[in-house]
Amino acid sequence: MPLFFVYTYNLAYSGKYKMKPRKTIDHPNGYVQTVYYGKCDYCGGYYEGAGEKFCGNSCSVRNRYETTNKIEIDKNTHDVIEGTLFSDAHLELGNKNRNINPRYRFKQAEKSKEYVEYVAKYFGLENKIVHMLNKHKPTDLVKIDTIDCRFKTCSSKDLQKYHQRWYINKIKIIPEDFDPNPECLLHGYLGDGYLYKGNMKTYTYPYPVFCTDSFTAEDLQNSFIDPLENNYGIYARFLWYKGRPRIAIRRKSFDDFFNFIGPCPVSCFQYKWPEKFQKQPA
Ligand SMILES: [Zn+2]
Repeated sequence: MPLFFVYTYNLAYSGKYKMKPRKTIDHPNGYVQTVYYGKCDYCGGYYEGAGEKFCGNSCSVRNRYETTNKIEIDKNTHDVIEGTLFSDAHLELGNKNRNINPRYRFKQAEKSKEYVEYVAKYFGLENKIVHMLNKHKPTDLVKIDTIDCRFKTCSSKDLQKYHQRWYINKIKIIPEDFDPNPECLLHGYLGDGYLYKGNMKTYTYPYPVFCTDSFTAEDLQNSFIDPLENNYGIYARFLWYKGRPRIAIRRKSFDDFFNFIGPCPVSCFQYKWPEKFQKQPA
């Protein structure tokens, strides 16, 4: 065995380059070439060549996103993520090579900026809120410019499990294990709810409504109405709006519902609470 071959062979197994020989190629001139594989630090796969840490740019980017973009998610933040995903929040996956992990986005109209600040605090991003002017398009029905107020997190591996549960083919669904606990339900109501005031003439009583138009009736029945009734004793029903399913809290659960979610945490949405459940001014 020629000396140079012993040397490279030993180097390959010394661990320094994490290589293993892949194959030898016998060249017609008698030269025997050994092709080595390096082992990727991220995916563990072998690749041709040596001295690099990752098999390609994709693995090196993934590795960077996972080690640097950490989001601390405690129980409260978890409930806020779940409750806002049930209403207005989105998780988006960026360009497949550059932003592998999802980021969380949340926005409201400018007049509800207090609520955006409230949600952003759970992520420590209350100073990262941006205000955006949305110019109306010629095709818009309402020809006015609006301002909204939004924030987004970094793309983080810590959000991966939420994306897996809440999205199928980029469409938001309600996960089977969704728990409409008080904090979740509060954010669902803050974001997507309104209080139907009732109508004295037609003897209809007031009830809270969730504008759940984007979800399917089946998801809403199995992952919202059923657990709400079975686990928390709050009764809800469908309220169809332009062929889309919305949810109304039943009359018998009216007080239970507002006792369950507690007082409104932000002044901009006080109007969604009935008077007797509104916070008394201090
Ligand atoms: Zn790799």
